[in-house]
Amino acid sequence: MARRMRRQFVDTDDEIVARAGRPIPEIFANDGEERFRAWERAVLENVCQRGNLVVSTGGGVVLDPDNRSLMMKHGTVICLEAKPATVFRRLRRNLTNGGSTRERPLLAGEDPVKRIEALKEYRQPFYGMADWTVQTDRLTTEEVVDEVLKGVGYASRRLKRSAERWPVFPPLSLKGREADAPYWEDMGAAFVVDMTSAKYPVFVGWEILDQLGRRMRNLGLGGTAAVIGDEKVISIHGDRALKSLSEADFQALSYSVPSGEASKSPEELWKIYDWLVENRVERGSTIVVIGGGVVGDLAGYAAATYLRGLNLVQVPTTLVAMMDSSIGGKVAINHPQGKNLIGAFYQPKLVLADVQMLSSLPHRELTSGWAEVIKHGVIMDPGLLHLLEQDYEHVIALEPEKATEVVKRSAALKGRVVSQDERESDLRMILNYGHTIGHSLEAATEYGQYLHGEAVAIGMMGAALISEKVAGLPHEQVERQRSLLTKYRLPTSLPEMNIDQLIEGMTLDKKVRGKLLRWVLVQGIGVPVVRDDVPMDLVRDVLNQLMLAS
Ligand code: NAD
Repeated sequence: MARRMRRQFVDTDDEIVARAGRPIPEIFANDGEERFRAWERAVLENVCQRGNLVVSTGGGVVLDPDNRSLMMKHGTVICLEAKPATVFRRLRRNLTNGGSTRERPLLAGEDPVKRIEALKEYRQPFYGMADWTVQTDRLTTEEVVDEVLKGVGYASRRLKRSAERWPVFPPLSLKGREADAPYWEDMGAAFVVDMTSAKYPVFVGWEILDQLGRRMRNLGLGGTAAVIGDEKVISIHGDRALKSLSEADFQALSYSVPSGEASKSPEELWKIYDWLVENRVERGSTIVVIGGGVVGDLAGYAAATYLRGLNLVQVPTTLVAMMDSSIGGKVAINHPQGKNLIGAFYQPKLVLADVQMLSSLPHRELTSGWAEVIKHGVIMDPGLLHLLEQDYEHVIALEPEKATEVVKRSAALKGRVVSQDERESDLRMILNYGHTIGHSLEAATEYGQYLHGEAVAIGMMGAALISEKVAGLPHEQVERQRSLLTKYRLPTSLPEMNIDQLIEGMTLDKKVRGKLLRWVLVQGIGVPVVRDDVPMDLVRDVLNQLMLAS
């Protein structure tokens, strides 16, 4: 290919060997896979800067989301596909030509074809992000090159149209995470939110509420723990939380807030201040919030403001709170003129999400929460999307292992985004995928017909259809999203309604900067873009299409 394209050829494995000064099996054996992957990343970053190359990478390179973003941003990504049996034949041929099983560990041991199959299945969602795939089983090398060249022409035209004129977001990286990993991991944290202003662990697990007091102690908290909880949640789970706090020697008090959005009000906030004053809660005390996003936002705001700030611990109990609102430090109450108008950024000291607590959550609330989890998969993580597809029955049924894995992964994605974009400038904006239509639909139906996640699910379908038209999202990915939302029992079409009213609502939305509506779209799974040039006629067509689908 390089010869035909008159470009220089680079094999990333060769460059790694040159840098390390020893062969790959030795790197794996002596330095470990992690070191190998770090070299691989460095080499990839380097070749991406150089341009005008044909680059061959190892098959595992796509596992790292940062690598994927780099590849998508800087080049045309071609996947050379082959059936497991073909892969096996080729590896064996390589072996008889002088390789060894040490160099090809896949061939060592029993049933290598099965192992190749398993590896391929795991990696398939990532391979699926390629701009062009060539099925190579029956082709000669020259024929493969012909097919690849066809794809390069097509895909680079598409990439030019979309990527050059509009930003592809910078790769996500776990800033600072590696350096501190041993300390946090010893504590059993699922991940760490690492911001300039704060750094805190997030625990996600099954039946871990009993660890609350101990985890807080480990972080150096002590004294009074003022538990502020959603009244329903406190009635079900309050005793366990209080017991855990008392066992860790906290003086635990508790206060219940009425359930529902109406509680994010100045009146309820004032009642909390009164309660804190009455109980002489002092500086250095900790507010422990137990509940969904409503009480998290309300009591979080109380913690941010009372005595100019008390320690805050979030114990989220809804799916939305676990994978979204408890992470990132946004706290707020509502004003009659708008939601969340009075608020602050105030980070917790720790977040503890006990996934088992979702078992008591009303079914519709849970279902609505899956929309935001699916959204995370679509905009950031093909691997999560694959898990959601493959294990949906277990996930919906809250089977402990699968449900915990999915919540953990989704929460970690939010953690990564806020670690890089603390104050919601550009990167955090990608989380608004599906929200432009979603918010307007909620408003047009007076917040009575749809839960937030349900409206977002419909909004995501609108955003995907627009993405297909203006950002080159392949049609099968639009359908893939539709089928996944349906599996999670979420709506994907609009009811009979006035489309003009819906469009008007969008232009009133607070995400409007100046006069332009900014749309979060996807070029592919895990590759978001923001566009402000989507024609209103197209939006209207898409909304009509969504309505007809009902
Ligand atoms: P919610 O807090 O209203 O909880 C939903 C319902 O579930 C309530 O009736 C509650 O009583 C009940 N409930 C909660 N946990 C339960 C459990 N484990 N068992 C039984 N019942 C339970 O809803 P939500 O979806 O968690 O939060 C929505 C709020 O979050 C909105 O006000 C929104 O503005 C806010 N939010 C904030 C952020 C942020 O970054 N701060 C992000 C997203 C949403």
